[in-house]
Amino acid sequence: MDSEAATGSVQQEHKTITEAHSSIFEMTRICVGQRSSLYVHRNDSFIDRLPYEIHSHIFELTLESWPWSYQAGEASRTFSLVSRHWRDVALNTPRLWSQIDSSFHNYSIQFVDLVLTRSNPRPLDIEIGDCTCKSETGDRESCVLSKPLTTQAHRWRTVAMINAPEVEMFTAFPAPLLEKFDYKLTRHFPRTLPANIFAGHTPRLREIHLKRVDLPLTSPIYIGLTSLHLAEFRSHSSVQQLLAIIRSCPLLEQLVLDDVRLWGSQDEVCVTNPSFELARLQFIDLSCKRDISRDILAAVVIPPSAHLCLQLGHHLVDEFDGFVVKNLHNLPQIRHMGIIFDPPHCDITGRVSHSGSAQELLTLFTSGDLSEVTHKIAQLLTFSSINTLIVTDITTHSELTTYRKFLAPFMAVSILKLHPCPPILLESLASDAAMLVCPQLVELQITGTALVPHPLIHMIRSRARIIPRADSEVSLRRLTLESCTGLDPETMLELHKYVQVTVVDDTAHTA
Ligand SMILES: [Zn+2]
Repeated sequence: MDSEAATGSVQQEHKTITEAHSSIFEMTRICVGQRSSLYVHRNDSFIDRLPYEIHSHIFELTLESWPWSYQAGEASRTFSLVSRHWRDVALNTPRLWSQIDSSFHNYSIQFVDLVLTRSNPRPLDIEIGDCTCKSETGDRESCVLSKPLTTQAHRWRTVAMINAPEVEMFTAFPAPLLEKFDYKLTRHFPRTLPANIFAGHTPRLREIHLKRVDLPLTSPIYIGLTSLHLAEFRSHSSVQQLLAIIRSCPLLEQLVLDDVRLWGSQDEVCVTNPSFELARLQFIDLSCKRDISRDILAAVVIPPSAHLCLQLGHHLVDEFDGFVVKNLHNLPQIRHMGIIFDPPHCDITGRVSHSGSAQELLTLFTSGDLSEVTHKIAQLLTFSSINTLIVTDITTHSELTTYRKFLAPFMAVSILKLHPCPPILLESLASDAAMLVCPQLVELQITGTALVPHPLIHMIRSRARIIPRADSEVSLRRLTLESCTGLDPETMLELHKYVQVTVVDDTAHTA
């Protein structure tokens, strides 16, 4: 190789190396650029570019109930661990620190003090159960919650306690911001609170829920409520005092008296007091002794859209009278009735219509057999508005006449559903010279029943003919059989002659 050729080769190699170097340099530059843009992105995410107060408000939203909430009590601590910026926002969002719950028993008094400072001046929502603070002496003063409960009454917005024994410590203070007071005992002995609880100063209180806690009905904190729940309530107060409270709450929406016993004056109040209306009432549950239920229903006018929940006694005695019935403006709206037998119990529901989500107006918890149930219903409402009846689990086997007596009051029923029923009940539906129950019946649905072909065909045939009666020209048109047995093709053919038959389950043909 001559020297000229060697020089050309070296120059060529130098050029290649230079090109490689510049392309590596360029690639490095791009990579560094991409890395730094990633870095910038991470530290300047969408939420961090939001104005401070909007970021703070998003944090506050996590404390709202559904659909936002997820362990809201932990949110404040979780957010403050994410980054320096988030911590800054979290520490300056007082609302985020305004919920105090049982988990605080696991923290130090210093942390509780910090939370009280950070939440200031926002109202506090307090929810506590038994004290689990690790106290060697076991005295309640060592509970980390004693401070928020004794020194912060002026900031309480809601207080909910289950089995919390600390109650004596703080019931003496005025609670000017308190909106909801919920105190339930499930394990401890019933407790009596003083009538002047919260020094009688709770001007914003709207909801009181008590269980096994006697707060005398003379207490001023009952005035102006929208929601009152008393459960396992034992008191020396009287029915008159209970009525006076209800009257002092004209905006009441929810009234639940579940196992309430009053040992005060037993005077009859039923007839003497003029009745008054609770126009905003949505739900009234009177699962207590009949004299209390009766006195309340005789005094309170129930609006047409309210849901009444009642417990009727075990004996066949008339528990209600005309004074009660004339006040129940909701019950005449009932078009659909469901009766579920679960001996010795019997549950009855009344709805506006037969669709599943239709508004419920009546729930009756009672007991008794077929012969007693209609008598009990008849105390409260007439049957003439009920056009759909669903009867579930009639398992007792009674006489034909008993079934007829049970169905007879339902004069206006056009749709009857039986889930399931004894064959003899189907026989009781047959039209004969003596009697026709449910004369308006157009549609019959039977579920889960072992059918007996001959009596079934007889009944359907008797009802499907247009019967020339003075009071009715209606005949059965539709029959729906769901998960029934005992049907053979011959029976099906015969039934099809008289009515439109729908079979909902393919097991129906397995005789
Ligand atoms: Zn504690």
